[in-house]
Amino acid sequence: MKRIALLGATGSIGSSALDVIARHPDRFEVLALSAHSRVDELIALCARFRPAQACIADARGYPALRDGLRQRGLATEALAGSEALESLASDPATDTVIAAIVGAAGMGSTLAAARAGKRLLLANKESVVLAGDLLMRVAREHGASIFPIDSEHNAIFQCLPAGGTRQGVRRLLLTASGGPFLGRTRESLRAVTPEQACAHPNWTMGRKISVDSATLMNKGLEVIEAHHLFGLPAQCIEVVIHPQSVIHSLVDYIDGSVLAQLGNPDMRTALAHGLAWPERIDSGVAPLDLPQLAHFDFAKPDLAAFPCLGLAYAALRTGGTAPAILNAANEVAVAAFLDRRLPFLGIADLIASTMEALPVEPAGDPAVLLAVDALARARANELLKDMSQA
Ligand code: NAD
Ligand code: MG
Repeated sequence: MKRIALLGATGSIGSSALDVIARHPDRFEVLALSAHSRVDELIALCARFRPAQACIADARGYPALRDGLRQRGLATEALAGSEALESLASDPATDTVIAAIVGAAGMGSTLAAARAGKRLLLANKESVVLAGDLLMRVAREHGASIFPIDSEHNAIFQCLPAGGTRQGVRRLLLTASGGPFLGRTRESLRAVTPEQACAHPNWTMGRKISVDSATLMNKGLEVIEAHHLFGLPAQCIEVVIHPQSVIHSLVDYIDGSVLAQLGNPDMRTALAHGLAWPERIDSGVAPLDLPQLAHFDFAKPDLAAFPCLGLAYAALRTGGTAPAILNAANEVAVAAFLDRRLPFLGIADLIASTMEALPVEPAGDPAVLLAVDALARARANELLKDMSQA
């Protein structure tokens, strides 16, 4: 029996994870669930999965969570705040932590799970971008095993040689759907709305990652994520547009072999893989129907129309705290775009000016990373104000 803490239970990844978990009550037990602010949804999940503990990250929701659990007659203990998230991630009663919080807000609990030597099913890519070197070091030192829950990285994990060797690997090829604006010119993107940006052709996801997919920043974050997870430099990680989102990524070996992992675009495959590894279990995902798909397309990404991908490569090459600045500025820019305070093309502009405005330092300990994250958010917000007054 695997005992699971699911952080970010009310999100898109969270509900896919619970869908897989619910199919296998003989294998998995949910010991802890968390959400940011949706108390009612969290209580409903507690009624269904009966965890020992539930945490509302925004502490203002604590009384409602505590009283709601009591009124439903549930024995689940109510917790609140980011320290409680970290204690759930490191609780000795659990062996598996699913990190499904969105954004840098997930860094503390992700690091706590690594420090506690957990099986870490890692969807929270922003924490890898922000603290990749630190996270990988802590995981190594404390015997945590990381299972990537990003379709591309899960595909690469499945296609790399077992045992962590990179022998004979020439390149990683990350596939990208291209998002809802594939094929559009930069000029034509001036007036696109949050609704259009969030209407992804192949995947149903949270709003932040949906906008990231529309700008290609998602792929940029994934390039940085791949660098940390698989230990290859930027020049060995390439992006190829594949609009069908069926080939989830590929590994190119020096003998000319290229291994790929395919499947319908549904995150339950990666989650089932991480949950059951090294075994295989049913995920509920329909089998792939290749004749129905008929053909696959590939293209190079258009860096002029989608400059965020280039910005992410630049941050990776610069190293140090550059990816942390990139990530923080992107979170501010995406939130402003979703709030209609910034046009779509302003997202890349705001990230670029924040990166230009701040010095890059070596990224070592969590305190430095948190300080840089806060500084970059503050600077991005100031620049945002200037942009809207201009
Ligand atoms: P989502 O917005 O649907 O869900 C986010 C979850 O995090 C929710 O449960 C929310 O309550 C919680 N949360 C939000 N802000 C928080 C905060 N400040 N503190 C604590 N908890 C907070 O997002 P999602 O699409 O499920 O994505 C989650 C993560 O997985 C992201 O890092 C994303 O990049 C990654 N990811 C998602 C997909 C996908 O298909 N959705 C695919 C690959 C990777
Ligand atoms: Mg992905």
